[in-house]
Amino acid sequence: MVNKLNKKIGYLTIDDSPSENFEEVVNYLVEMHIPAIFFCEGRKLGNRIDFVIDAIRKGFIIGNHSYNHPNFSEISLNEAKDQIIKTYAIIDNIYKQAEVSRLIKVFRFPFLNNGISNEYQECDWNNEHVRGLQKILKVFGYKLPKFKQINYKWFKKAGFSKCLNVDCTYDSFDWCLKEDEECFGYHDLHTILDRMDEDVPEGGRGLNNPESNEIIMMHNWIPIEDFKAIINKFLTKGIEFRIPEFN
Ligand SMILES: [Zn+2]
Repeated sequence: MVNKLNKKIGYLTIDDSPSENFEEVVNYLVEMHIPAIFFCEGRKLGNRIDFVIDAIRKGFIIGNHSYNHPNFSEISLNEAKDQIIKTYAIIDNIYKQAEVSRLIKVFRFPFLNNGISNEYQECDWNNEHVRGLQKILKVFGYKLPKFKQINYKWFKKAGFSKCLNVDCTYDSFDWCLKEDEECFGYHDLHTILDRMDEDVPEGGRGLNNPESNEIIMMHNWIPIEDFKAIINKFLTKGIEFRIPEFN
C-alpha cells in the first residue's frame, strides 16, 4: 500500500513536436509556469529551429521522437538506428546553437510502440527486436529521467520504469481530436475531458488516484484552445506540473 502523496505531480510530455502551434504552446506554458518535455520529430525540426532554440532557452526539454514517426515494430534495426541518429544529430545541433548544456537525452517511440506491437500497457523486453532497440538507445546515451513516485502496478509490471525510452501513465487521448479517429468513443474535447474523471488507476486512468504521480502524454498539433482546456482540467484536478530530475 502506497501512502497518499502530499501533492500529485504531473510530468508533461508533448509529442509530435514542433507543430504549427509550437510557439503558441510554449508561450502558454511559460505564462502558466508549466515545464514540459517536447518529443520532436526530426522532419519537423528544420522549419522551426529558432522557435525550438527559444524553447530550450526558456527551460523546456527537447526529446527525440524519431525522424518521421514510423511504427518501430515494422522497421529493421538499421532503419530504427537511422531514425534515431538523424534526429539525434539535429537536436544536438539545436542545443549547440542555443548554447544551453543538455541535461539529458530522452526518447519516445512513435505510437508508444516499443518494437513489437501497439499493445497498450505492456511490452516483451525479451523480444530480440525490442532488445535491439534498447541497445541502440543505450549507445546514443538515452536515459529515463527520474520520474518520482510513479506507483502504478501495471506500469512497473510492463517494465516502463526500467526501459530507456519514456512511456506514459496517462495518455490524454487528445489524438482522438483528429476528425477521422473514433477511438473508443472519445471523439471530441468534451469526451476527452470527461475521461479525465474516470477512476481506473490500473487501466491508465488514475488522475483521481492520490497514490501515484503521472507521466502525461499530449500532442503538439491539437488546436490550442483544446490544449489549454485539457491543461486547465489537469490544474483544476490539483495536479502540479514539474520537470523530472535528470541525474
Ligand atoms: Zn507521436
